[in-house]
Amino acid sequence: MTLTERQEYLEGGFSELACARCEALVRVRKSSPQQTSVQWTAQAAKRCAGDLGALVPTCLDLRASIDEAVRAGKLEVT
Ligand SMILES: [Zn+2]
Repeated sequence: MTLTERQEYLEGGFSELACARCEALVRVRKSSPQQTSVQWTAQAAKRCAGDLGALVPTCLDLRASIDEAVRAGKLEVT
């Protein structure tokens, strides 16, 4: 990934976050306390949520990691 690409998605309000359990790296954006957008890479989806054919990959540990990041002020609500 180039620096420019990185800048672009960070400016879009997305932050990189790793799941505490499986260390899958995803991009997360909180637009409100209830609203969380997660961009999964194919690799992260497989590693974190397993390849179960789910439309939206989910991982409870990742959710906890997101909540934790918000509490710690590492993830801004934009
Ligand atoms: Zn996970």
